[in-house]
Amino acid sequence: MAHVVIVGGGLSGLSVAFRLKQLAPSVSVTVLEPRDRTGGNIRTETHDGFRVECGPNGFLDRTPSVPNLVRDLGLSDRLIAASEGSRKNRYLYLRGRLRKMPGGPFGLLTSGLLSIRGKWQLITEPWRKPRADASQDESIAEFVTRRAGKEAADIFADALVTGIHAGDPTKLSVAAAFPRLPVMEREAGSIIRGFMRAAKKRKQDAAARGESPPGPMRMWSFREGLQVLVDGLMSSVGNCVRTGVRVKSVRKGESGASATGVSWQVITDTETLTADAVVLACPAYEQAAVLGDLDPRLADLAAGIAYNRIAVVALGYRQADCSWSPDGFGYIAPQNTRRDVLGVQWCSAIFPDRAPPGCMLWRALCGGVNRADVADWDDDRLAKAVHAEMKLAMGVRGEPVFRKIVRWPRAIPQYNLGHLERVAQIDAASAMHPGLFLTGNAYHGVAMGDCAEQGELVAARVAASMNNSSTV
Ligand SMILES: Cc1cc2nc3c(=O)[nH]c(=O)nc-3n(C[C@H](O)[C@H](O)[C@H](O)COP(=O)(O)OP(=O)(O)OC[C@H]3O[C@@H](n4cnc5c(N)ncnc54)[C@H](O)[C@@H]3O)c2cc1C
Repeated sequence: MAHVVIVGGGLSGLSVAFRLKQLAPSVSVTVLEPRDRTGGNIRTETHDGFRVECGPNGFLDRTPSVPNLVRDLGLSDRLIAASEGSRKNRYLYLRGRLRKMPGGPFGLLTSGLLSIRGKWQLITEPWRKPRADASQDESIAEFVTRRAGKEAADIFADALVTGIHAGDPTKLSVAAAFPRLPVMEREAGSIIRGFMRAAKKRKQDAAARGESPPGPMRMWSFREGLQVLVDGLMSSVGNCVRTGVRVKSVRKGESGASATGVSWQVITDTETLTADAVVLACPAYEQAAVLGDLDPRLADLAAGIAYNRIAVVALGYRQADCSWSPDGFGYIAPQNTRRDVLGVQWCSAIFPDRAPPGCMLWRALCGGVNRADVADWDDDRLAKAVHAEMKLAMGVRGEPVFRKIVRWPRAIPQYNLGHLERVAQIDAASAMHPGLFLTGNAYHGVAMGDCAEQGELVAARVAASMNNSSTV
Protein backbone atom coordinates (compact mmCIF):
# COMPACT_ATOMS: atom_id res chain seq x y z
CA MET A 1 0.00 0.00 0.00
CA ALA A 2 1.42 3.41 -0.97
CA HIS A 3 2.15 5.67 2.00
CA VAL A 4 2.13 9.51 2.07
CA VAL A 5 3.51 11.47 5.02
CA ILE A 6 2.21 15.01 5.52
CA VAL A 7 4.39 17.21 7.70
CA GLY A 8 2.26 19.75 9.62
CA GLY A 9 -1.32 19.54 10.87
CA GLY A 10 -2.50 23.09 10.14
CA LEU A 11 -5.28 23.85 7.66
CA SER A 12 -2.90 23.20 4.75
CA GLY A 13 -1.78 19.77 5.94
CA LEU A 14 -5.24 18.62 7.05
CA SER A 15 -6.79 19.81 3.75
CA VAL A 16 -4.25 17.79 1.77
CA ALA A 17 -4.96 14.74 3.97
CA PHE A 18 -8.74 15.09 3.60
CA ARG A 19 -8.68 15.60 -0.17
CA LEU A 20 -6.09 12.88 -0.70
CA LYS A 21 -8.24 10.37 1.16
CA GLN A 22 -11.13 11.29 -1.14
CA LEU A 23 -9.03 11.10 -4.30
CA ALA A 24 -6.98 8.02 -3.51
CA PRO A 25 -8.72 6.02 -0.77
CA SER A 26 -6.29 3.14 -1.09
CA VAL A 27 -3.30 5.32 -0.16
CA SER A 28 -2.26 5.26 3.49
CA VAL A 29 -1.77 8.77 4.91
CA THR A 30 0.09 9.89 8.04
CA VAL A 31 0.01 13.50 9.28
CA LEU A 32 2.76 14.45 11.74
CA GLU A 33 2.26 17.45 14.04
CA PRO A 34 4.64 18.47 16.86
CA ARG A 35 2.07 20.24 19.04
CA ASP A 36 -0.49 18.38 21.11
CA ARG A 37 -3.27 19.80 18.94
CA THR A 38 -3.84 20.30 15.23
CA GLY A 39 -5.18 23.36 13.42
CA GLY A 40 -1.95 25.39 13.39
CA ASN A 41 -2.92 29.06 13.52
CA ILE A 42 -6.61 28.22 13.84
CA ARG A 43 -7.71 27.96 17.46
CA THR A 44 -10.87 29.02 19.29
CA GLU A 45 -10.91 29.30 23.08
CA THR A 46 -13.86 30.08 25.33
CA HIS A 47 -13.33 31.60 28.77
CA ASP A 48 -16.00 33.14 31.03
CA GLY A 49 -18.45 33.27 28.10
CA PHE A 50 -15.99 35.11 25.82
CA ARG A 51 -15.25 33.12 22.67
CA VAL A 52 -11.85 34.19 21.36
CA GLU A 53 -10.31 33.39 18.02
CA CYS A 54 -6.57 33.14 18.72
CA GLY A 55 -5.67 33.23 15.00
CA PRO A 56 -7.97 33.87 12.04
CA ASN A 57 -11.33 35.45 12.84
CA GLY A 58 -13.20 34.09 9.83
CA PHE A 59 -12.81 33.20 6.18
CA LEU A 60 -13.95 34.94 3.02
CA ASP A 61 -15.96 33.25 0.27
CA ARG A 62 -13.75 34.92 -2.39
CA THR A 63 -12.80 31.40 -3.49
CA PRO A 64 -15.12 28.40 -3.00
CA SER A 65 -12.41 26.24 -1.42
CA VAL A 66 -13.35 26.63 2.26
CA PRO A 67 -17.12 26.59 1.64
CA ASN A 68 -16.59 23.40 -0.40
CA LEU A 69 -14.45 21.88 2.34
CA VAL A 70 -17.12 22.78 4.91
CA ARG A 71 -19.81 21.21 2.68
CA ASP A 72 -17.80 18.03 2.13
CA LEU A 73 -17.25 17.73 5.88
CA GLY A 74 -21.01 17.98 6.40
CA LEU A 75 -20.71 21.23 8.36
CA SER A 76 -22.55 23.66 6.07
CA ASP A 77 -25.58 23.94 8.37
CA ARG A 78 -23.31 25.16 11.18
CA LEU A 79 -21.87 28.07 9.17
CA ILE A 80 -22.76 31.62 10.10
CA ALA A 81 -22.23 34.70 7.94
CA ALA A 82 -20.71 37.84 9.39
CA SER A 83 -23.32 40.46 10.29
CA GLU A 84 -24.52 42.80 7.57
CA GLY A 85 -23.18 45.75 9.58
CA SER A 86 -19.70 44.27 9.62
CA ARG A 87 -19.72 44.10 5.83
CA LYS A 88 -20.79 47.69 5.42
CA ASN A 89 -19.19 49.49 8.32
CA ARG A 90 -15.41 49.46 8.35
CA TYR A 91 -13.36 52.26 9.81
CA LEU A 92 -9.94 53.85 9.74
CA TYR A 93 -8.38 55.52 12.76
CA LEU A 94 -7.00 58.70 11.23
CA ARG A 95 -6.21 62.15 12.52
CA GLY A 96 -7.41 61.36 16.03
CA ARG A 97 -10.76 59.67 15.37
CA LEU A 98 -12.57 56.82 13.63
CA ARG A 99 -13.60 57.58 10.04
CA LYS A 100 -15.93 55.32 8.10
CA MET A 101 -14.46 53.79 4.95
CA PRO A 102 -16.55 54.59 1.91
CA GLY A 103 -18.12 51.66 0.07
CA GLY A 104 -16.20 52.20 -3.20
CA PRO A 105 -14.08 54.65 -5.18
CA PHE A 106 -17.04 56.94 -5.82
CA GLY A 107 -17.93 57.12 -2.13
CA LEU A 108 -14.35 58.21 -1.55
CA LEU A 109 -14.90 61.33 -3.54
CA THR A 110 -17.51 62.60 -1.10
CA SER A 111 -15.60 61.47 2.00
CA GLY A 112 -13.15 63.64 3.89
CA LEU A 113 -10.43 60.99 3.78
CA LEU A 114 -8.56 62.48 0.80
CA SER A 115 -7.64 66.05 -0.10
CA ILE A 116 -8.95 67.54 -3.37
CA ARG A 117 -5.63 66.68 -5.00
CA GLY A 118 -5.83 63.11 -3.64
CA LYS A 119 -9.37 62.73 -4.99
CA TRP A 120 -8.32 64.06 -8.39
CA GLN A 121 -5.46 61.56 -8.58
CA LEU A 122 -7.82 58.74 -7.69
CA ILE A 123 -10.60 59.71 -10.10
CA THR A 124 -8.16 60.03 -13.00
CA GLU A 125 -6.78 56.50 -12.42
CA PRO A 126 -8.57 55.00 -15.47
CA TRP A 127 -6.73 57.41 -17.77
CA ARG A 128 -3.26 56.73 -16.40
CA LYS A 129 -1.08 54.66 -18.73
CA PRO A 130 -0.05 51.14 -17.63
CA ARG A 131 3.63 50.64 -16.84
CA ALA A 132 5.75 50.17 -19.94
CA ASP A 133 7.88 47.40 -18.42
CA ALA A 134 5.53 45.16 -16.47
CA SER A 135 8.18 42.45 -15.98
CA GLN A 136 9.78 44.20 -12.97
CA ASP A 137 8.29 43.42 -9.58
CA GLU A 138 6.72 46.39 -7.81
CA SER A 139 5.70 46.98 -4.19
CA ILE A 140 2.04 47.54 -3.34
CA ALA A 141 2.94 51.11 -2.24
CA GLU A 142 4.68 51.85 -5.56
CA PHE A 143 1.84 50.32 -7.53
CA VAL A 144 -0.96 52.26 -5.82
CA THR A 145 1.05 55.50 -5.83
CA ARG A 146 1.65 55.14 -9.56
CA ARG A 147 -1.99 54.32 -10.29
CA ALA A 148 -3.93 56.45 -7.80
CA GLY A 149 -1.51 58.83 -6.07
CA LYS A 150 0.48 58.93 -2.85
CA GLU A 151 -2.43 59.81 -0.57
CA ALA A 152 -4.44 56.77 -1.71
CA ALA A 153 -1.34 54.62 -1.21
CA ASP A 154 -0.61 56.02 2.25
CA ILE A 155 -4.15 55.40 3.44
CA PHE A 156 -5.76 52.57 1.48
CA ALA A 157 -2.82 50.45 0.34
CA ASP A 158 -1.48 50.70 3.86
CA ALA A 159 -4.85 49.74 5.38
CA LEU A 160 -5.17 46.76 3.04
CA VAL A 161 -1.71 45.48 3.84
CA THR A 162 -2.09 46.14 7.56
CA GLY A 163 -5.44 44.34 7.64
CA ILE A 164 -4.37 41.24 5.73
CA HIS A 165 -0.61 40.82 6.15
CA ALA A 166 0.35 43.14 9.01
CA GLY A 167 3.15 43.90 6.59
CA ASP A 168 5.02 46.80 5.03
CA PRO A 169 3.44 48.18 1.84
CA THR A 170 6.85 49.32 0.57
CA LYS A 171 8.21 45.75 0.82
CA LEU A 172 5.30 43.52 -0.20
CA SER A 173 5.14 42.53 -3.85
CA VAL A 174 1.86 43.57 -5.43
CA ALA A 175 2.01 40.69 -7.92
CA ALA A 176 2.46 38.14 -5.13
CA ALA A 177 0.23 39.60 -2.42
CA PHE A 178 -2.57 41.03 -4.62
CA PRO A 179 -2.19 39.24 -7.97
CA ARG A 180 -5.50 40.52 -9.34
CA LEU A 181 -4.36 44.15 -9.35
CA PRO A 182 -1.53 43.94 -11.93
CA VAL A 183 -3.72 41.64 -14.03
CA MET A 184 -6.48 44.28 -14.02
CA GLU A 185 -3.99 46.95 -15.01
CA ARG A 186 -2.72 44.77 -17.84
CA GLU A 187 -6.09 43.58 -19.11
CA ALA A 188 -8.42 46.51 -18.41
CA GLY A 189 -5.80 49.29 -18.40
CA SER A 190 -7.09 50.44 -15.00
CA ILE A 191 -7.94 49.08 -11.55
CA ILE A 192 -11.25 50.92 -11.30
CA ARG A 193 -12.24 49.68 -14.75
CA GLY A 194 -10.96 46.19 -13.86
CA PHE A 195 -13.18 45.97 -10.76
CA MET A 196 -16.19 47.24 -12.74
CA ARG A 197 -15.60 44.67 -15.49
CA ALA A 198 -15.15 41.88 -12.95
CA ALA A 199 -18.45 42.79 -11.24
CA LYS A 200 -20.23 42.90 -14.61
CA LYS A 201 -18.78 39.53 -15.61
CA ARG A 202 -19.88 37.94 -12.32
CA LYS A 203 -23.44 39.17 -12.99
CA GLN A 204 -23.39 37.92 -16.60
CA ASP A 205 -22.01 34.51 -15.56
CA ALA A 206 -24.72 34.15 -12.91
CA ALA A 207 -27.41 35.12 -15.42
CA ALA A 208 -26.03 32.57 -17.90
CA ARG A 209 -26.38 29.91 -15.19
CA GLY A 210 -29.92 31.10 -14.49
CA GLU A 211 -28.92 32.28 -11.00
CA SER A 212 -29.70 35.58 -9.30
CA PRO A 213 -26.87 38.17 -9.27
CA PRO A 214 -24.14 37.19 -6.80
CA GLY A 215 -24.05 39.07 -3.52
CA PRO A 216 -20.94 40.82 -2.22
CA MET A 217 -18.07 38.80 -0.79
CA ARG A 218 -18.75 37.77 2.83
CA MET A 219 -16.86 36.57 5.85
CA TRP A 220 -17.94 33.31 7.52
CA SER A 221 -17.34 31.32 10.66
CA PHE A 222 -19.30 28.97 12.92
CA ARG A 223 -21.34 29.84 16.00
CA GLU A 224 -18.75 27.91 18.07
CA GLY A 225 -15.84 29.49 16.16
CA LEU A 226 -13.39 28.28 13.52
CA GLN A 227 -12.38 25.39 15.77
CA VAL A 228 -15.42 23.62 14.26
CA LEU A 229 -13.55 23.36 10.95
CA VAL A 230 -10.46 21.86 12.60
CA ASP A 231 -12.60 19.45 14.65
CA GLY A 232 -14.52 18.48 11.48
CA LEU A 233 -11.30 17.75 9.64
CA MET A 234 -10.08 15.74 12.62
CA SER A 235 -13.26 13.64 12.76
CA SER A 236 -12.61 12.77 9.15
CA VAL A 237 -8.82 12.26 9.05
CA GLY A 238 -7.93 12.22 12.76
CA ASN A 239 -7.13 8.50 12.73
CA CYS A 240 -4.11 9.20 10.52
CA VAL A 241 -2.85 12.17 12.57
CA ARG A 242 -0.05 11.78 15.10
CA THR A 243 0.49 14.73 17.42
CA GLY A 244 3.59 15.37 19.51
CA VAL A 245 5.82 14.34 16.60
CA ARG A 246 8.31 16.83 15.12
CA VAL A 247 9.89 16.06 11.77
CA LYS A 248 13.61 16.85 11.77
CA SER A 249 14.60 15.99 8.21
CA VAL A 250 13.75 14.02 5.10
CA ARG A 251 16.03 11.99 2.87
CA LYS A 252 15.67 9.76 -0.15
CA GLY A 253 15.38 6.04 0.52
CA GLU A 254 16.14 2.98 -1.58
CA SER A 255 14.07 3.22 -4.77
CA GLY A 256 13.36 -0.54 -4.71
CA ALA A 257 11.69 -0.10 -1.32
CA SER A 258 8.62 1.46 -2.86
CA ALA A 259 5.73 0.41 -5.08
CA THR A 260 5.96 3.73 -6.98
CA GLY A 261 9.72 3.54 -7.56
CA VAL A 262 10.30 6.57 -5.29
CA SER A 263 11.02 6.19 -1.62
CA TRP A 264 11.43 8.72 1.18
CA GLN A 265 12.55 8.55 4.76
CA VAL A 266 11.00 10.97 7.22
CA ILE A 267 13.11 11.39 10.33
CA THR A 268 11.41 12.49 13.55
CA ASP A 269 12.85 12.90 17.05
CA THR A 270 12.24 9.23 17.80
CA GLU A 271 11.91 7.20 14.60
CA THR A 272 12.26 7.02 10.81
CA LEU A 273 9.15 6.56 8.68
CA THR A 274 9.23 5.29 5.10
CA ALA A 275 6.98 6.96 2.53
CA ASP A 276 6.32 7.04 -1.20
CA ALA A 277 5.66 10.78 -1.05
CA VAL A 278 6.20 13.55 1.47
CA VAL A 279 4.16 16.74 1.66
CA LEU A 280 5.74 19.56 3.66
CA ALA A 281 2.85 21.67 4.99
CA CYS A 282 4.69 23.27 7.91
CA PRO A 283 5.85 26.93 7.86
CA ALA A 284 8.59 27.81 5.34
CA TYR A 285 11.32 28.22 7.98
CA GLU A 286 10.50 24.70 9.27
CA GLN A 287 10.53 23.36 5.72
CA ALA A 288 13.99 24.90 5.36
CA ALA A 289 15.20 23.07 8.47
CA VAL A 290 13.69 19.78 7.28
CA LEU A 291 15.26 20.14 3.81
CA GLY A 292 18.71 21.35 4.95
CA ASP A 293 20.55 18.03 4.44
CA LEU A 294 18.66 16.98 1.30
CA ASP A 295 18.99 20.17 -0.73
CA PRO A 296 20.73 23.18 0.88
CA ARG A 297 19.79 25.53 -1.99
CA LEU A 298 16.11 24.66 -1.78
CA ALA A 299 16.33 25.06 2.00
CA ASP A 300 17.91 28.52 1.59
CA LEU A 301 15.16 29.60 -0.79
CA ALA A 302 12.45 28.54 1.69
CA ALA A 303 14.34 30.11 4.60
CA GLY A 304 14.34 33.44 2.75
CA ILE A 305 10.59 33.89 3.24
CA ALA A 306 10.19 36.34 6.10
CA TYR A 307 7.50 36.15 8.81
CA ASN A 308 6.14 38.88 11.03
CA ARG A 309 5.37 38.88 14.77
CA ILE A 310 1.84 39.47 16.00
CA ALA A 311 0.19 39.68 19.39
CA VAL A 312 -3.57 39.20 19.50
CA VAL A 313 -5.01 41.12 22.44
CA ALA A 314 -8.68 40.31 23.09
CA LEU A 315 -10.42 42.51 25.64
CA GLY A 316 -13.97 42.18 26.94
CA TYR A 317 -15.96 45.23 28.05
CA ARG A 318 -19.36 45.80 29.59
CA GLN A 319 -21.70 47.40 27.08
CA ALA A 320 -22.66 49.92 29.75
CA ASP A 321 -19.04 51.13 29.85
CA CYS A 322 -19.02 52.23 26.25
CA SER A 323 -20.93 55.19 24.89
CA TRP A 324 -21.81 53.23 21.73
CA SER A 325 -22.20 49.65 20.71
CA PRO A 326 -20.43 49.39 17.37
CA ASP A 327 -22.22 47.75 14.47
CA GLY A 328 -19.33 47.06 12.13
CA PHE A 329 -16.18 45.08 11.45
CA GLY A 330 -13.69 47.25 13.28
CA TYR A 331 -10.95 49.64 12.31
CA ILE A 332 -7.41 49.82 11.00
CA ALA A 333 -4.85 52.38 12.04
CA PRO A 334 -2.67 52.97 8.95
CA GLN A 335 0.91 52.27 9.93
CA ASN A 336 2.21 55.70 9.06
CA THR A 337 0.15 56.90 12.03
CA ARG A 338 2.52 54.69 14.12
CA ARG A 339 -0.03 53.55 16.68
CA ASP A 340 0.58 50.70 19.13
CA VAL A 341 -2.42 48.90 17.67
CA LEU A 342 -2.55 47.86 13.99
CA GLY A 343 -6.28 47.39 14.04
CA VAL A 344 -9.23 46.23 16.10
CA GLN A 345 -11.93 43.72 15.19
CA TRP A 346 -15.28 44.10 16.96
CA CYS A 347 -15.66 40.33 17.28
CA SER A 348 -19.03 40.37 19.07
CA ALA A 349 -20.48 42.71 16.42
CA ILE A 350 -19.23 40.48 13.60
CA PHE A 351 -20.46 37.09 14.86
CA PRO A 352 -23.01 36.10 17.54
CA ASP A 353 -22.05 34.32 20.77
CA ARG A 354 -18.62 35.94 21.07
CA ALA A 355 -19.39 37.60 24.42
CA PRO A 356 -21.75 36.93 27.35
CA PRO A 357 -24.98 39.01 27.55
CA GLY A 358 -24.34 42.69 28.28
CA CYS A 359 -20.69 42.46 27.16
CA MET A 360 -18.65 43.06 24.01
CA LEU A 361 -15.48 41.33 22.79
CA TRP A 362 -12.93 43.30 20.79
CA ARG A 363 -9.67 41.95 19.45
CA ALA A 364 -6.63 44.11 18.70
CA LEU A 365 -3.75 42.99 16.51
CA CYS A 366 -0.39 44.43 17.54
CA GLY A 367 3.13 44.19 16.13
CA GLY A 368 3.46 43.35 12.45
CA VAL A 369 6.52 44.12 10.37
CA ASN A 370 6.88 47.77 11.38
CA ARG A 371 6.03 47.55 15.09
CA ALA A 372 7.38 44.08 15.91
CA ASP A 373 8.63 45.39 19.27
CA VAL A 374 5.04 45.86 20.49
CA ALA A 375 4.32 42.13 20.08
CA ASP A 376 7.13 41.47 22.59
CA TRP A 377 5.80 43.74 25.33
CA ASP A 378 4.79 41.89 28.48
CA ASP A 379 1.10 41.12 28.97
CA ASP A 380 0.37 44.00 31.33
CA ARG A 381 2.03 46.60 29.12
CA LEU A 382 0.27 45.25 26.03
CA ALA A 383 -3.17 45.14 27.65
CA LYS A 384 -2.66 48.67 29.04
CA ALA A 385 -1.62 50.01 25.62
CA VAL A 386 -4.58 48.39 23.89
CA HIS A 387 -7.01 49.61 26.55
CA ALA A 388 -5.63 53.16 26.11
CA GLU A 389 -6.31 52.89 22.37
CA MET A 390 -9.83 51.62 23.05
CA LYS A 391 -10.47 54.64 25.27
CA LEU A 392 -9.22 56.95 22.55
CA ALA A 393 -10.85 55.34 19.52
CA MET A 394 -13.99 53.84 21.07
CA GLY A 395 -14.60 56.16 23.99
CA VAL A 396 -14.73 53.22 26.40
CA ARG A 397 -14.98 54.34 30.03
CA GLY A 398 -14.70 51.26 32.24
CA GLU A 399 -11.86 48.78 32.65
CA PRO A 400 -11.90 45.54 30.65
CA VAL A 401 -13.69 42.66 32.38
CA PHE A 402 -11.82 40.03 30.37
CA ARG A 403 -8.48 39.70 28.63
CA LYS A 404 -6.72 37.06 26.60
CA ILE A 405 -3.35 37.60 24.92
CA VAL A 406 -1.94 35.25 22.28
CA ARG A 407 1.50 35.72 20.73
CA TRP A 408 2.49 34.50 17.30
CA PRO A 409 6.31 34.89 17.11
CA ARG A 410 6.24 33.95 13.42
CA ALA A 411 2.71 34.73 12.36
CA ILE A 412 2.12 35.57 8.71
CA PRO A 413 4.59 35.00 5.84
CA GLN A 414 5.52 38.16 3.99
CA TYR A 415 5.41 38.02 0.20
CA ASN A 416 8.18 40.57 -0.24
CA LEU A 417 9.55 41.85 -3.56
CA GLY A 418 10.88 38.91 -5.57
CA HIS A 419 8.47 36.43 -3.94
CA LEU A 420 7.07 35.06 -7.21
CA GLU A 421 10.57 34.53 -8.59
CA ARG A 422 11.56 32.78 -5.36
CA VAL A 423 8.49 30.53 -5.51
CA ALA A 424 9.25 29.68 -9.15
CA GLN A 425 12.78 28.67 -8.10
CA ILE A 426 11.40 26.63 -5.20
CA ASP A 427 8.98 24.86 -7.56
CA ALA A 428 11.79 24.12 -10.01
CA ALA A 429 14.14 22.89 -7.27
CA SER A 430 11.53 20.70 -5.56
CA ALA A 431 10.53 19.20 -8.94
CA MET A 432 14.03 17.67 -8.98
CA HIS A 433 12.90 15.46 -6.06
CA PRO A 434 10.03 13.27 -7.29
CA GLY A 435 7.60 12.53 -4.49
CA LEU A 436 8.40 15.73 -2.57
CA PHE A 437 5.66 18.40 -2.39
CA LEU A 438 5.85 21.80 -0.70
CA THR A 439 2.70 23.64 0.36
CA GLY A 440 1.37 25.91 3.13
CA ASN A 441 0.58 29.57 3.44
CA ALA A 442 4.14 30.64 2.54
CA TYR A 443 3.71 30.27 -1.20
CA HIS A 444 0.42 31.02 -2.93
CA GLY A 445 -1.70 33.07 -0.53
CA VAL A 446 -2.02 33.56 3.21
CA ALA A 447 -5.81 33.42 3.57
CA MET A 448 -7.55 30.27 4.75
CA GLY A 449 -9.19 30.04 1.30
CA ASP A 450 -5.75 29.97 -0.35
CA CYS A 451 -4.55 27.20 1.99
CA ALA A 452 -7.64 25.06 1.34
CA GLU A 453 -7.36 25.68 -2.40
CA GLN A 454 -3.69 24.68 -2.43
CA GLY A 455 -4.63 21.65 -0.33
CA GLU A 456 -6.94 20.48 -3.13
CA LEU A 457 -4.33 21.09 -5.82
CA VAL A 458 -1.50 19.38 -3.96
CA ALA A 459 -3.68 16.39 -3.07
CA ALA A 460 -4.50 15.98 -6.78
CA ARG A 461 -0.79 16.14 -7.69
CA VAL A 462 0.11 13.61 -4.99
CA ALA A 463 -2.70 11.28 -6.08
CA ALA A 464 -1.54 11.52 -9.69
CA SER A 465 2.05 10.79 -8.66
CA MET A 466 0.88 7.67 -6.83
CA ASN A 467 -0.42 6.36 -10.16
CA ASN A 468 -3.78 6.25 -8.53
CA SER A 469 -5.47 8.58 -10.94
CA SER A 470 -7.99 5.88 -11.82
CA THR A 471 -9.56 6.45 -8.42
CA VAL A 472 -9.71 10.25 -8.95
C1 LIG B 1 -3.15 36.28 14.04
C2 LIG B 1 -3.59 35.73 12.71
C3 LIG B 1 -4.79 36.17 12.15
C4 LIG B 1 -5.21 35.66 10.92
N1 LIG B 1 -6.44 36.07 10.42
C5 LIG B 1 -6.92 35.48 9.30
C6 LIG B 1 -8.28 35.70 8.90
O1 LIG B 1 -9.05 36.40 9.58
N2 LIG B 1 -8.71 35.07 7.77
C7 LIG B 1 -7.91 34.23 7.03
O2 LIG B 1 -8.36 33.69 6.01
N3 LIG B 1 -6.63 33.97 7.42
C8 LIG B 1 -6.13 34.56 8.54
N4 LIG B 1 -4.85 34.26 8.97
C9 LIG B 1 -4.00 33.38 8.14
C10 LIG B 1 -4.37 31.88 8.27
O3 LIG B 1 -4.76 31.60 9.58
C11 LIG B 1 -3.15 31.03 7.94
O4 LIG B 1 -2.54 31.42 6.73
C12 LIG B 1 -3.49 29.54 7.84
O5 LIG B 1 -4.25 29.11 8.94
C13 LIG B 1 -2.17 28.79 7.72
O6 LIG B 1 -2.35 27.41 7.69
P1 LIG B 1 -1.11 26.45 7.41
O7 LIG B 1 -1.58 25.07 7.65
O8 LIG B 1 -0.51 26.76 6.09
O9 LIG B 1 0.01 26.87 8.48
P2 LIG B 1 0.00 26.73 10.06
O10 LIG B 1 -1.34 27.07 10.60
O11 LIG B 1 1.17 27.52 10.52
O12 LIG B 1 0.25 25.18 10.33
C14 LIG B 1 1.51 24.60 10.18
C15 LIG B 1 1.62 23.41 11.14
O13 LIG B 1 2.90 22.80 10.95
C16 LIG B 1 3.34 22.38 12.22
N5 LIG B 1 4.81 22.18 12.20
C17 LIG B 1 5.77 23.12 12.41
N6 LIG B 1 6.99 22.54 12.36
C18 LIG B 1 6.81 21.23 12.11
C19 LIG B 1 7.69 20.11 11.98
N7 LIG B 1 9.03 20.25 12.05
N8 LIG B 1 7.17 18.88 11.78
C20 LIG B 1 5.82 18.72 11.68
N9 LIG B 1 4.94 19.75 11.79
C21 LIG B 1 5.43 20.99 12.01
C22 LIG B 1 2.90 23.49 13.14
O14 LIG B 1 2.89 23.08 14.50
C23 LIG B 1 1.53 23.81 12.59
O15 LIG B 1 0.50 23.07 13.22
C24 LIG B 1 -4.39 34.74 10.21
C25 LIG B 1 -3.19 34.31 10.77
C26 LIG B 1 -2.79 34.79 12.00
C27 LIG B 1 -1.51 34.29 12.61
